[in-house]
Amino acid sequence: MKNLKIAIQKSGRLNQKSVELLKNCGLSFENYKSSLKTPVHNFNLEILYLRDDDIPGYVEQGIADLGIVGENIIQETEAEVEYIERLGFGKCSLKIATPISSDISVLSELNGKSIATSYPNILKKFFDSKNISVHIHEISGSVEIAPGLGLSDAICDIVSTGATLKNNGLKPFANVMDSEAILIGNKEIVENPLTLELKQRVCSVLRAKSTKYVVLNVERDNLKKVLELLPGVKSPTVVPLAEDNWVAVHTVIPEDAFWHKINQLKEAGAQGLVVMPIEKIIL
Ligand code: ATP
Ligand code: ZN
Repeated sequence: MKNLKIAIQKSGRLNQKSVELLKNCGLSFENYKSSLKTPVHNFNLEILYLRDDDIPGYVEQGIADLGIVGENIIQETEAEVEYIERLGFGKCSLKIATPISSDISVLSELNGKSIATSYPNILKKFFDSKNISVHIHEISGSVEIAPGLGLSDAICDIVSTGATLKNNGLKPFANVMDSEAILIGNKEIVENPLTLELKQRVCSVLRAKSTKYVVLNVERDNLKKVLELLPGVKSPTVVPLAEDNWVAVHTVIPEDAFWHKINQLKEAGAQGLVVMPIEKIIL
């Protein structure tokens, strides 16, 4: 079978998490920063290291079959690619920000104003859909300094904590889109058996990441109360302990419910709780 090629970011915010995800999928490869591509030793796959901006286009053209890239870049390049899986990392938002001193308070007040951005396509669609007309200044980096230099009235850029905006005297004003890393594929390749296998591995890693393996001890009298709090993957495993009338319960709980559930379990009589990470969950 022909090797598939997956494009990931060469360096930058998505590189490390992309490599980690592929390694957690059981793929074995060298992560040389100097090479542009690396073979995977135990899967018919080659890894291409690219600038994130080039990834959607390469996948659309079939130069790479698959890619891991931020949804912001997919939308901006308008590449026709398939979304295979949302990956839950690289989370950020594309926001419009105005100078802290600005008294603009609703979007329509941006009518006729100028906005600096590296995302002209997304921004144009956003304002077109609201029938607001703005002048879009495309600049490729350091967008935050544009208002201070008198280049624009506002900016539209990626924000995660907002610290960079604040340091440049700006405040977030409106959300344009939320983004995260996506596993994308060329249209011709999404049903390929290798793609499907990789997708299955990715899903089992993501599922495991969002859940914890919990072991706890409880007296039989309190078992029913504790079990009611534990809707696991299937029904929990209950094992008798050496001490009479005590059992150990093994189960899997979603990370989201974690602290809330742990406290409720303790109140219901659970003791000796051990919480462990899970490597993979195959359904
Ligand atoms: P490249 O050299 O590959 O072009 P870049 O400098 O354009 O890299 P990075 O800053 O590494 O890109 O960001 C890559 C992606 O990470 C972004 O497109 C976005 O999807 C995501 N991301 C997550 N948090 C942030 C953030 N705080 N700022 C910028 N991007 C972020
Ligand atoms: Zn880039």
